[in-house]
Amino acid sequence: MNGFGTQSGARHLCNIVLIHSCRLARRVAFGGLYEQRGQRLGRGMMQQSNDRPEILDLGDMPEQGVVPKNMHAFVVRQDRFGEPESAWQREVIPVPEIGPLDVLVYVMATGINYNNVWAALGTPVDVIADRQKKGEPEDFHAGGSDCSGIVWAVGSDVTNVKIGDEVVIHSGWWEPEDPWVVSGRDPMLAPSVRIWGYQTNYGSYCQFAKAQSHQCQPKPKHLTWEQAGCYLLCASTAYRMLMGWAPNVVEKDDVVLVWGAAGGLGSMALQIVAAQGGKPVAVISSDDKRQFCLDHGAVGVINRKDFDHWGKMPDTNSQEWGTWMKGARAFGKAIWEAVGERKSPRLVFEHPGEATLPTSGFVCDIGGMIVICAGTTGYNVTMDLRYHWMMQKRFQGSHLANDDQAKAVNELVIANKVDPCLSGLYAFDEIGHAHQLMHDNKHPSGNMACLVNATQKGQGAS
Ligand code: NAP
Repeated sequence: MNGFGTQSGARHLCNIVLIHSCRLARRVAFGGLYEQRGQRLGRGMMQQSNDRPEILDLGDMPEQGVVPKNMHAFVVRQDRFGEPESAWQREVIPVPEIGPLDVLVYVMATGINYNNVWAALGTPVDVIADRQKKGEPEDFHAGGSDCSGIVWAVGSDVTNVKIGDEVVIHSGWWEPEDPWVVSGRDPMLAPSVRIWGYQTNYGSYCQFAKAQSHQCQPKPKHLTWEQAGCYLLCASTAYRMLMGWAPNVVEKDDVVLVWGAAGGLGSMALQIVAAQGGKPVAVISSDDKRQFCLDHGAVGVINRKDFDHWGKMPDTNSQEWGTWMKGARAFGKAIWEAVGERKSPRLVFEHPGEATLPTSGFVCDIGGMIVICAGTTGYNVTMDLRYHWMMQKRFQGSHLANDDQAKAVNELVIANKVDPCLSGLYAFDEIGHAHQLMHDNKHPSGNMACLVNATQKGQGAS
């Protein structure tokens, strides 16, 4: 691992810290205020200021409200789509304008999420081409869907946050004028919904990120910048999956099967289920993740490598189906053993998809729900429908979270009931490397973060 936990990582961090200290020592007072404290700016006003600094070094913190013309960012371009390590590169790009309901956030630390592995690969969606079709001209993707930081500028109609507020950003983004949103219904079902920092530009791999003000949640005070920057995308997604689809929400003593339980989503799911009084059963692929899961609320742990029936379900009329069914039954028995009684999962927390879904469908309890937010192993769904309809199970898609769900899970973090599970901390220049680890499933358990403007690890907690 090339992170801060290693010698080379530690050397790297040391260098960064030294550089930042020097830069801070010679911090200059910039005259060009993007917005004076207490004032608000509308769209386009940034362009009119001639005395803004050209660019700041990472970690240079100007007077609050001073915004440079350009900034450092990690960016993907179409001609280098491919392995995340090389697709993500550091560039200098203009600081974007903000609209009346937007904020500009001075990013202290960013989380690393799987969506920007997909953005680097250019599949299943070319996010740059997708945005250009929507009328956004930029030929780059400056991504990043999780961060902690300080509100540095606010649009003219923003009322919920002010300059100087310490925030974390959740990544549900939608057009404020979307009739569905205006009607007050769940904005995550609005036609205009996008994932911030994946389907929108200028995310948390930028020195100054552009977000909508409703995305801001208070930064939990007890967390460092890097802890605060790493969890909200996964935590809010997991919360919606587990608590957003009534009547199939986690209740006391419910068994919940959690795939990838030591991963970003899984580590949040274990803790949310435990906080609701449920019984999470963790699935992992190597025994060194076992203790991590037990420490974060799992009542039992199953190693999926002990089974070999994964993949698409064979034809129900074939001999192979019998072998597959034997594997699925054995896995179901392993769940009962993990729980300590013959109790099947009332919820199955799915994201691997193709490789695991047939088993998820089979082991789910009568009237239970398989809730899914991804297809990391493939998108072709196979499932024995006989079990699905006869036992009246529910197969529910779920995507990210709305403001209420982000708020609810952030409150669990503030109350210390959910830990961000920061596992690996990397330097700004290791953003590509951190995505590569994730792509190769070699990343440490939990959620990773990279420092952006924070000058060293451990800052920001009070
Ligand atoms: P992660 O930290 O990489 O965790 C994924 C876990 O999946 C891994 O730790 C791995 O655990 C497990 N896994 C890998 N291959 C598997 C297989 N063949 N069978 C079963 N499990 C397998 O990633 P994450 O952040 O949790 O995200 C997981 C997926 O959800 C990604 O595709 C991501 O894009 C998606 N996602 C979607 C949303 C949304 O709103 N729609 C939000 C967040 C994430 P073991 O090897 O230990 O089993």
